[in-house]
Amino acid sequence: MKYTDEFRDPVAAKVLLAAIDQAVAAIGATPEKPVRIMEICGGHTHAIFRYGLNKLTPPALEFIHGPGCPVCVLPMGRVDDCVKIAEHPEVIFTTFGDAMRVPGTRKSLLQAKADGADIRMVYSPLDALELARRHPQREVVFFGLGFETTTPPTALSIKQAAAEGIRNFSVFCNHITVPQPLKVLLDDPRMTLDGFIGPGHVSMVIGIEPYQFIARDYGKPLVVAGFEPLDLLQSVLMVLEQIRDGRAQVENQYSRVVPDAGNPVSIAVCEEVYESRETFEWLGLGEIERSGLKIRRAYQDYDAEVKFGLAYAKLGAVAQDHDGCACGEVMSGRIKPQQCPQFGKGCTPEVPLGALMVSSEGACAAYYQYDGALPERVS
Ligand code: SF4
Repeated sequence: MKYTDEFRDPVAAKVLLAAIDQAVAAIGATPEKPVRIMEICGGHTHAIFRYGLNKLTPPALEFIHGPGCPVCVLPMGRVDDCVKIAEHPEVIFTTFGDAMRVPGTRKSLLQAKADGADIRMVYSPLDALELARRHPQREVVFFGLGFETTTPPTALSIKQAAAEGIRNFSVFCNHITVPQPLKVLLDDPRMTLDGFIGPGHVSMVIGIEPYQFIARDYGKPLVVAGFEPLDLLQSVLMVLEQIRDGRAQVENQYSRVVPDAGNPVSIAVCEEVYESRETFEWLGLGEIERSGLKIRRAYQDYDAEVKFGLAYAKLGAVAQDHDGCACGEVMSGRIKPQQCPQFGKGCTPEVPLGALMVSSEGACAAYYQYDGALPERVS
């Protein structure tokens, strides 16, 4: 398949793997003291396991899985808020499918649906807006969830609703941004990270400039990467070459998709509709300043928090995550999924205790689905 097969070529993969071996050796990394590269994006985590890159690369290279799965970083308190909104009899609550099974303290959205709430899966916020057009007597709420990749479509749905004068549509805004949690991880003395694989889809919107602080202030390389195996191997090699050469720069391996300046139209729409929250809670990382978005006052008629009288600070503090879950430690890269006592026992994709086992981008789901069923390292 054009634009896919070229990036899965096994001959090219072997060349890259040999170069990675050499770079890791030149750095002086060992299995006991590996070079540690964090892939920020859950899509990259999934691809690394799907293609067995964790087993094809040398043991002196360790992948650390970052907080780049938006469903996974959602604290239970926000799921509880969704259920509260959805249980209003006039509400049609709409969400992407991934969020349906994320546990809340009382119930997930799927359980709330089974209990009678009108909760529907949609593929886009514009689907939710169409529901609002078709059901003018109901209040249609869209669960706005995700990083910078999904913020522009939500903003456009709000602008479209305003342009058409649709009053029975609102967004429960839980959109979050990538750069701020990276700073938290870099400031954490328990974390030792040597470099980063930057998110491809997010960077398509924001470009590469927002990551410059990582190279400038922390002296760590970051390479924005695509999602095919050769993309990831080349990006890993680019990070390793920077470490080997004593450089720290932001580079763009995924330039066929990611413009260095991002997408100025999307950036402008988001600027118009959203502003930063003072703080937002992340599973495993706690409250992080300026890491979440809320809807600006000019569009408050479309803000579900305003319509339903919710206050983020009050709600965010309500819920603790499930007893026995190590989701937070996995989420922040401090332990691997199989080190969680619940992994594969109390927590499976069929009966998940934490969101990391629910989402297709979650590290626990990736380990569960792929690890152990992969080819041994090729030489
Ligand atoms: S195995 Fe389940 S409980 Fe443990 S960290 Fe993963 S999602 Fe959380």
